[in-house]
Order: sequence, then C-alpha cells, then structure tokens
Amino acid sequence: MQKAEKRHLVWFRNDLRTIDNAVLHEACKDGNEVLGVYCFDPKHFEVNPFGFKKTAKFRAQFLIETLQDLKEQLHRLNIDLLVYHDLPEVVIPKICESHQVTDIFLQNEWTQEEVDTENLVKSKIEDVTWHPIYNQFLFHPDDINFNIYKTPQVFTVFRKKLEKYVEIREELKIEKQTENLRIDNNTTIPTLGDLGFEDFQRHPHSAFPFKGGMTEAIKRLNDYFFNTKKLGFYKKTRNGLVGVDYSSKFSSWLANGSISAGIIYWNVKQFEKEHYKNQSTYWLIFELIWRDYFKYVSLKHGNQIFKLEGILKKDYEWSSNKIQIEKWINGETQSDFVNANMIELKETGWMSNRGRQNVASYFAKELELDWRIGASYFESLLLDYDVHSNYGNWMYVAGVGNDPRDRKFNVQLQAERYDANGKFRNLWLQPSLF
Ligand SMILES: Cc1cc2nc3c(=O)[nH]c(=O)nc-3n(C[C@H](O)[C@H](O)[C@H](O)COP(=O)(O)OP(=O)(O)OC[C@H]3O[C@@H](n4cnc5c(N)ncnc54)[C@H](O)[C@@H]3O)c2cc1C
Repeated sequence: MQKAEKRHLVWFRNDLRTIDNAVLHEACKDGNEVLGVYCFDPKHFEVNPFGFKKTAKFRAQFLIETLQDLKEQLHRLNIDLLVYHDLPEVVIPKICESHQVTDIFLQNEWTQEEVDTENLVKSKIEDVTWHPIYNQFLFHPDDINFNIYKTPQVFTVFRKKLEKYVEIREELKIEKQTENLRIDNNTTIPTLGDLGFEDFQRHPHSAFPFKGGMTEAIKRLNDYFFNTKKLGFYKKTRNGLVGVDYSSKFSSWLANGSISAGIIYWNVKQFEKEHYKNQSTYWLIFELIWRDYFKYVSLKHGNQIFKLEGILKKDYEWSSNKIQIEKWINGETQSDFVNANMIELKETGWMSNRGRQNVASYFAKELELDWRIGASYFESLLLDYDVHSNYGNWMYVAGVGNDPRDRKFNVQLQAERYDANGKFRNLWLQPSLF
C-alpha cells in the first residue's frame, strides 16, 4: 500500500454509526489516514431563551451510550475517536494543527445553530479542504426529481413524486483501515456528572427501555423485524400507547444517526423477500418518508420553521401564560389523557406519536399557547429530538405548517378511541396500581 498523503478528520455530529455512513465512507475510501472527533458541545447543555435546558438528562445519557459504542465500532475499523467536552471551535482547530489534518469530512447540516458552529470552526482553520456530505436522508437530495425549493406543500404530493421514481442508494460498507494514524489518545467520554446531571435509573414503565448506539439499534431492528416479526403488524399497532412493541422505536437512533434510514429500508426489503409484503411493511417506509419530508421542508424554508407564524406565515394570536405552560408540563391540565402523556414524557423522555399529536394540539389549539414553547420543551426532553421532525410536526399541528386541513384533536374522543380501557392513563396517573 502507498504511504498516505492526506490526513482526514471525520467530525461526527448526528451521524454516529459505522455502517452506511457516507461521510466515513468518503473519508476512508482512498487509504488515507483517518481520525474521528466528537464534541459534547457545552452549548447543547445550556438553558435556551424559553427557560429549558437544550438537552435534558435522557438524551444526554443516550448520547453517552452512543459514543461508547461508536468508539468501539471505530476501533474495530482501526480508527481512533477523540472525544471532548468542549466547543468544536476550540477543539477542532487544535486537532488540525497538531495532527496536520488536510481534509475535514462531516454531515451536511443546514439549520442555523449547526451552520453557526461550523462557520466558527472554519474561521479558525486555514488550508483544510471541507467535505460536507448529506448522510441523513432516505431519498438523497442529489437523486430527487424536483428542485428542493419546489418541495411540495403537501406530503402526499411529495411522496408520490418520490416513492415510485427515485431509487434508494445501496448500503455503504466501510472497510477496516489496514494502516492508520497512531495517536496518543487520552480523551475520555464525559459522564452524566460531567455534563451537569445526576445519575438516574430508567423508569420501569418506560416504553423506550433501550440504550444508545448502533449495536443496540441493529439489535432492535433484528428483534422487531426478524425475531418477533412485529413489523408485519406495524400498521395495526402503530397508534398504541403502552409497551415496547407498538411501533419500531427507531426514532432515537435515527435522530443521532446511529442507524440510517437506508439500513431500515433495505431490511424491510429483506423481510419482504424472506417472509411477506403487506400494508405494514409498506407503512414503515411510508413513515420514513415523513421523516424525509420534514428535512426537505426545513431545507426549503430555512429559519422560517422556527418562527411563530411558521411556513404558512399565519397571523394567529398566541398566549404565553406561564401557569398554563407549567400545568401542561406537569400533567395538571383539564385532560387526563394529555396529563398521562406529559407525565410519561417527564419521567422517561419518551412519548408515542399519538400522544405527541394530542398534547401538541391541546397546547397550541386548545390553550392557544405559543407553539414554539411546547416545541422547545420537547426539544429538551425527547430522547429522539430531531430538529426537522420536531419543528415540522409542531408547525403542522399548530396550523402554521404543512397541514392543509388545519385540524384540532378532540382529546376526549382520542382517549376513548386509543385508551378505551384507561390502561395508559392508569399507568402514568396511578402508577401504584402497577
Ligand atoms: C409534536 C410532535 C413532535 C415530534 N417530534 C419528533 C422528534 O423530535 N423526533 C422524531 O424523530 N420524531 C418526532 N415526531 C414524530 C413521531 O412522533 C416520532 O417519530 C415517532 O413517534 C417515533 O416513534 P417510532 O420510532 O416508534 O416510530 P414508528 O411509528 O415506528 O415510525 C418509524 C419511523 O418513521 C419516522 N416517523 C414516524 N412518524 C413520523 C412523523 N410524524 N414525523 C417524522 N418522522 C416520523 C421516525 O423516524 C420513526 O422512527 C414528532 C411528532 C409530533 C406530533
């Protein structure tokens, strides 16, 4: 093998996996020396303008577990991972200098905070070639058949333009690096305490009892698809509220990139080949298309997704009544269904899709509270927080996004329909019964 001429640094952000990782693949492909870095950015643990810590303990713990696994997976590929609890704009320029980095590879992000951080890093480094690569989509932006700025306002139109016409890219395999840079790596993954949290136990009733990391994500996929074949019933169970298996629970791993939408897609295809194809197997892909949709919506509309008037530029009256917000957060509203969901979120960092739609609709449409405050609370607490899915769904439910019908959920009827026997409400409102 020829001696490496270049030193490649992979700056990991929300692409924390070693399978089907286009960024890592590109960095590794020519036999150059490769090094990884991840920063637990202190900005992600600060209190935001609405008064919530940007990352609460649940996602912090999940992220720590994810990094432990990533480090191990990279080690198997003969790649070192440097992990810091410091600002990227401080750390990365130093690494570039001390290791003579020639190229930086990273997932292409476009939301404001990510771009700001990236620009800060860039302003402190010279003579390095940057390689931003889209690594988070099912339908790659270079493969779609319309201009991103013409992304349809209605999901169904978007889906129909893509699903029959655009091919999903093959899964990328990353080979073990035979020769690689040897460094003195004395960095360590921070503990919960380092990040400002106390240790805590997972709640025994949590519907998301899983750990972070690619290994756990693949294990979950194999269980849900091949061992239990729950995938084959997904469409019937996906509106459930109690337990581990009513839905795939892939979102938390997808959010920080420890699994890719492509891996899930190709495993659905494998399941269909080995077992059967039905409405449920299709529906999981259908939901992944929703995930892509909100990414395209945010690409198209930029910072408008964070604005009160949303992408529809609606001029509604919104309240920011502190008492009502506190009651919503603490599960003390007039609706026991909303309350049970909010308590679940507070205790576990998880809430079902049905729950999210109801509590968000109650917040924005019933209490007419500034939807960005609800979204910001979700951002803090959710294990699976993803900027595009969170703000896209909140806008949608609040009537300032992509819902042409602008609906309001009747939380009472929803409770009767989806929690007819009260099992879910009892679980969170009367835990002593369980
Ligand atoms: C107000 C509100 C806020 C939300 N915030 C987030 C968020 O921050 N992060 C997040 O990943 N999802 C968010 N969602 C979407 C959805 O609730 C979750 O993706 C889903 O509940 C995760 O559970 P699952 O992985 O078992 O989903 P499954 O039902 O098994 O679906 C499979 C995958 O499809 C995708 N998906 C499903 N529904 C949606 C949807 N409505 N929008 C986008 N993608 C979807 C997810 O990636 C999910 O993992 C939000 C929904 C609402 C109504």
